[in-house]
Amino acid sequence: MMKRTVLITGASSGIGEACARVLAGEGSYRLLLCARRIERLDNLKKAILTAYPATEVYTFELDVRDRMQVESTIENLPDAWKNIDILINNAGLSQGLDPIQDGDPDDWDRMIDTNVKGLLYVTKAVTPLLKKSAHAHIINLGSIAGKEVYPNGNVYCATKHAVDALNKAMRIDLLPFGIKVTAINPGMVETEFSEVRFKGDKERAKAVYQGLTPLCGDDIAEVIAFVLSRPAHVNINDLLIMPTAQA
Ligand code: NDP
Repeated sequence: MMKRTVLITGASSGIGEACARVLAGEGSYRLLLCARRIERLDNLKKAILTAYPATEVYTFELDVRDRMQVESTIENLPDAWKNIDILINNAGLSQGLDPIQDGDPDDWDRMIDTNVKGLLYVTKAVTPLLKKSAHAHIINLGSIAGKEVYPNGNVYCATKHAVDALNKAMRIDLLPFGIKVTAINPGMVETEFSEVRFKGDKERAKAVYQGLTPLCGDDIAEVIAFVLSRPAHVNINDLLIMPTAQA
């Protein structure tokens, strides 16, 4: 098979960054990497090119919440990068961990705008390009929080339940075009996620992992590489990946 081009949102850290490294190591992907922190992406590109010099990598700044920016950036990609085969909808965050009555509506907006609306904007912008691919695939980063609701998880859980529903809806809508759709639903993964959730409070962020060994970004990236490597007739639609010790 020819090299497939993969667009990863939120590639500047955690699971997205791990996907970029792991897929580069496979040697059969061209990488389109985006996030808000462009300098992080450029450092990642350098590291990938050092480890895997034959990899083609293109980085660009994108805030998935900005619909106009999403539309125009995807439309204005260089021609050589418009043949997108795979979209990994990974950009996402949790902010705050409080009961609804104490929650901050600005945090709710950030989560809904990024995890739900951002995913929709990117999917809509990229789908016309995916339709042209013979090996098209959308991977949606859901969560255990999209399958269950845990104390104080309220709005984050609601956004990931929305991703769960959208994953099912995309599969139905995109089936006629032969586009595979997969939800990857991790339990606890040690990334910057927890620090973002607690707004830079490193102690609170670290305490989350006490008493268990969390997953790491590579654990998820390796599963995604496996999902992408299945033959054309196989679509793994929905996977839950948990740390062994997480209840
Ligand atoms: P990180 O915080 O390490 O990474 C999140 C990524 O999302 C960053 O690259 C960040 O880039 C990007 N991002 C955030 N907001 C935006 C935005 N508005 N526009 C573009 N990019 C954005 O967390 P993870 O790697 O852990 O999270 C990745 C995904 O996995 C998320 O969807 C998360 O909900 C999900 N997940 C994580 C779990 C965990 O325990 N870690 C468990 C289950 C699911 P930048 O700031 O540069 O824009």
